[in-house]
Amino acid sequence: MAKNPEATDNRRGRPPTRSRRPQPRRAKAAPAVSSADIEDLAPSVPGAAATAAAVPAALRPHLLRWYDAHRRDLPWRRASGGEEERAYAVWVSEVMLQQTRVPVVVGYYERWMARWPTVRSLAAATQEEVNEMWAGLGYYRRARFLLEGAKQIVEKGEFPHTASALREVRGIGDYTAGAIASIAFNEAAPVVDGNVVRVISRLYAIADNPKESSTMKRFWELAGQLVDPLRPGDFNQAMMELGATLCSKTKPGCSGCPVKSHCQALALSLESSSVQVTDYPRVVPKAKPRSDFAAVCVVQIAQGLGEEVTDTKGNDDLLLLIKRPEEGLLAGLWEFPLVLVDEGKTDLLNRRKAMDKYLTKLLSNDVGWKSDVILREDVGEHVHIFSHIRLTMHVELMIINLKDGVDRLCKKEDESTKLKFANESSVDSMGLTSGIRKVYNMVKAFKEKRLSASERSQVSTRKRSRRSKQ
Ligand code: SF4
Repeated sequence: MAKNPEATDNRRGRPPTRSRRPQPRRAKAAPAVSSADIEDLAPSVPGAAATAAAVPAALRPHLLRWYDAHRRDLPWRRASGGEEERAYAVWVSEVMLQQTRVPVVVGYYERWMARWPTVRSLAAATQEEVNEMWAGLGYYRRARFLLEGAKQIVEKGEFPHTASALREVRGIGDYTAGAIASIAFNEAAPVVDGNVVRVISRLYAIADNPKESSTMKRFWELAGQLVDPLRPGDFNQAMMELGATLCSKTKPGCSGCPVKSHCQALALSLESSSVQVTDYPRVVPKAKPRSDFAAVCVVQIAQGLGEEVTDTKGNDDLLLLIKRPEEGLLAGLWEFPLVLVDEGKTDLLNRRKAMDKYLTKLLSNDVGWKSDVILREDVGEHVHIFSHIRLTMHVELMIINLKDGVDRLCKKEDESTKLKFANESSVDSMGLTSGIRKVYNMVKAFKEKRLSASERSQVSTRKRSRRSKQ
C-alpha cells in the first residue's frame, strides 16, 4: 500500500487503586501502562467512595451466586493444570474475546489450544503460523503481541503472577492483566471491558461519556472497589457475564437480575417514565470512518501456456503475493498487489496506471511482464470495514504467461519488498486477512464463471463443427 491506514485500537491508561479489604493477593499500584482496549484508570476519584457506598458490597454474594448457577460452559473456563496453564488459557481467550463474539471465539480458541497448548509451545511458533491461525479475527497486531509476549515469558522463565508484572509483557494492558491476575492467580485486580462499563454505569447511574478518560478512570476505580477479595476471578467474570447476557445493551432483563436491588438506573427508571435503564451508559456516536480506495490486482502466473487461455482456473498456476511492512496496519501479512488511489482516480484507466507503476517497481524489468499479459479483466469491488477506515478495493485479475518460469520476475536486488509466488492450494491455507480472502474468493468465483462460459462455448463450437461435418 502506498499509504498505510494505521490501526489505532490501543487505548492506554493506568489501573485502579486497590480494595481496602483483606485480600489473598494484593495488587500493587500500577505504573503508567502498556496497551489494551478499555484499559484506563484513574488513581482516585473525588466522590467515588461515597458513590460506591451506594452500591454496597452486599451485591457480591448475589452476583456470585447467580454466576455459579448460570455461568456459560466455555472451554477456557475448563482449563485444567496449574496456575500458569490457566493464565495462558485466560490470556489467549481474553485477547480473542476482544476481537469478536463468544461463539466465534470458541472455535478459534480450541484450534489454537490444540496446536499450542502451552505458552512454551506458542513461543516456538513462527509469525506466519500464528497469522494463519488468527486469520479472520482481525487486528493481527494482537496475534503478533501474543507471540512476542509468549517469547518474553519463556525467556524470563515464568508467567508473571501479578497484574503489575503482567503489564510488563508485550501486548498485555490493564484489562488483560486484570483478567489473568484475578482469574489465574486470585489477585483482587479489577477488569473493565465494554460489558463491565455497561453494568457499572447502570449500577451507579453514570451518564457521563464513557469514551472520556476521566469517566473510564472512574469505572476502573469503582470496579476496583467492587471486586470480591475472596473470589476476584469469579467476580470479574460474573460482572462480564452479567453485561454479556442479562444486562444487555438494548433489552436488559432487569426482573431476573441478581443485583437489581442495587441498580440505580433501574430505580430511576421506576421513579420516572422519562428514564430508561438503557439511557446508561450514554451512547456516543461513532466517528465516521475515513474512506480509502485501492486498486488490487490478483496476478496469476500461467507458466508455459500457449497464447490462448483455455483454463483460467489455473489450478497449477502461481499467484503473486506481497508481504506488508512489519509496522503499521496488518503488519507482516501477505496480500495481493494493492495500491491506494485517490477518490477521484478510481476509474479503470487511473487504477491500472497506478498498478502498472507499482508492479514495474516490484518486478524485474528484464522480463517485460506487460507484453506477456494474456488476460486482464475487472472482477468487481469489495468494501472492507476496518474500525476507522472504509476501504473500497477495486479488483482485477491479470494472467501473465511466463514460459520460462517466475524466478527471473523477482528483483533479487530489492530486499525492501518481500514477495512470493504460491499456488492456489497454498494460498487457500495461508493466513490472509478477511478482506484479502474475500477478494481472493471473488476472483475464484470470477474464474469459475469464466471457465464455465468458455467450456460452454467450446462445447457449442464442437457441436457446430460436428454438424457441419455430417
Ligand atoms: S437491574 Fe437491569 S440495568 Fe441494572 S444491572 Fe441488572 S440488568 Fe442491568
